[in-house]
Amino acid sequence: PAMQQCSLNELITSFARIFESQAFLRGVKLKTDLQEDLPPIIIDRDQIKQVLLNLCQNALQAMDLRGTIILATSHHKEEKEICLSVIDDGPGISPENLDKLGTPFFTTKDKGTGLGLSISYTIVDRHRGRIEVDSKLGEGTRFSIYLPVDQQF
Ligand code: ADP
Ligand code: MG
Repeated sequence: PAMQQCSLNELITSFARIFESQAFLRGVKLKTDLQEDLPPIIIDRDQIKQVLLNLCQNALQAMDLRGTIILATSHHKEEKEICLSVIDDGPGISPENLDKLGTPFFTTKDKGTGLGLSISYTIVDRHRGRIEVDSKLGEGTRFSIYLPVDQQF
């Protein structure tokens, strides 16, 4: 079955092992900041991995051969949510462009498809979750994926 119980921290750790070398080749460090004892969640591993890849590739492409990407997890008990953040210290996103994120085909890249985020929003939506973006020009960007702990499909 596509939906299975899974440890988000383990998924991130195995993803990070692979993505780290890709980042290293572009002069970017990859770090993890994982909260221990996260409750397991029921997700489509491959799809959440795809979201992680989309967000990390965007961060990497935004950064100019230096900087750090942090993959962080946290448990928000009150809200029964787990949060997975991809944080970069790249150039940030202008307020004007922030409004367009997730619109299919919106890209600022010469060879971009503008589909990575719209696919990611759809996947997270299917998990009854949501994506929030915080960004400041010149400081960096944080994409936070909130996933419910008590899922019913
Ligand atoms: P693509 O990567 O093909 O451009 P996406 O949907 O993945 O399409 O991203 C859309 C746009 O969002 C990018 O072109 C870029 O302008 C902006 N963006 C996304 N993530 C970041 C980030 N971490 N830092 C700066 N800009 C970003
Ligand atoms: Mg992309």
